[in-house]
Amino acid sequence: MKNEKMYLINCTCYLNISRVGLYRSRCRRIPTFHQRNQGGEQEDVELVRGIDSGIWNIFLGGSKMVEIYDLIIIGSGPAGLSATIYAQRAKLTTLVIEANYVSGGQMMNTYRVDNYPGFLGISGMDLGTTFRRHADQMGSKFVMEKVLDLELKKEIKTVRTKKHLYQTRTLILATGTDHRKLQVPGEDEFEGFGVSYCATCDGVFFKDKVVSVVGGGDVAVEDAIFLARCCKKVYLIHRRDSLCSARILQERLMALPNVEIIWDSMVRSIEGVEQVAALQLEHLKTGEKEKLSVDGCFIAVGILPNNVLIQGKLELDEGGYIKASEDGVTSVQGVFAAGNVRTKQLRQIVTAVSDGANCVTSVQNYLMTKNI
Ligand code: NAP
Repeated sequence: MKNEKMYLINCTCYLNISRVGLYRSRCRRIPTFHQRNQGGEQEDVELVRGIDSGIWNIFLGGSKMVEIYDLIIIGSGPAGLSATIYAQRAKLTTLVIEANYVSGGQMMNTYRVDNYPGFLGISGMDLGTTFRRHADQMGSKFVMEKVLDLELKKEIKTVRTKKHLYQTRTLILATGTDHRKLQVPGEDEFEGFGVSYCATCDGVFFKDKVVSVVGGGDVAVEDAIFLARCCKKVYLIHRRDSLCSARILQERLMALPNVEIIWDSMVRSIEGVEQVAALQLEHLKTGEKEKLSVDGCFIAVGILPNNVLIQGKLELDEGGYIKASEDGVTSVQGVFAAGNVRTKQLRQIVTAVSDGANCVTSVQNYLMTKNI
């Protein structure tokens, strides 16, 4: 793979510098300025972003040279971490851009992982930290920055953050998923005041209290099991008459004396004064309404893909996940998708890890075929 540097001086011929300066004095959002080409026509803003990425860096006080990476990975959950490990083995110049202070993604919120081979019963936090340590030992390069925009149309892709504009020959999107909201009155109002989306993060605040968990999947059941250790009582509220989580988790849940499942019911509102105090429930089969007194409400009703950056730029499925098969190949050449953010049957740590590996193989094939 080539590892040349792009000297920015080559880009300046495309630009009227005084015009850039003028716009900069008004506002620092350089990519929004207009530019006319030699024929006097106004050029497309996306095109401008691609051409003058180095200029952007200079204006923001960055380096005068822009390294073109072989691979940029966005996201440092299991898919992103696995991808960077494979990329190091393949000797690709690679940068991982992560949005959070800690790598590991959603697995960091999992109390106990029983289905990652070789690590029975490990906490998600320990597993995530182990993955990250492995990536560090292999020499992976990480930056913690929020990605604001992507330019994917050209052969060299650009990734814009608040401070930098990175360039790369290939991109792996491993942006994962975020929690879905219940969208009921009181949910936003009491977030952080009794409403939580992370039992392992916030469960400690509900020691000896009565809490509810909403949902019927793996996360809801894991959360209920976790909370039952420290809470006086845990209600699991599910809108069906059976759970859709792994059977082993269901068995563990059913064995807990302080857990009660409320079947066929929906939370219609979350109530309280300064803190959550009660839930209004509706039984879906009888229509009966009930007020349930609780101190906290943990919401675990599924996930949504983190796709804001790529809407309109890549093909997505009806659920908003990136259309890509096991090889990670997306609708845009040079752009690959790994982990929970792509269309897939099973979203687990082990499948995310395997996606990362598969994507790097696809990246290598692409770079060799294209000879870029
Ligand atoms: P999930 O499996 O999609 O389950 C979501 C649950 O929330 C379902 O029971 C669903 O009910 C319910 N629900 C959805 N919208 C609702 C609403 N508006 N009101 C009430 N209930 C609602 O999601 P998850 O449990 O968050 O798990 C996400 C993914 O992560 C899954 O693929 C899971 O297998 C995976 N996961 C993996 C691990 C691991 O690898 N160790 C651990 C945890 C999770 P319905 O059944 O009626 O649709």
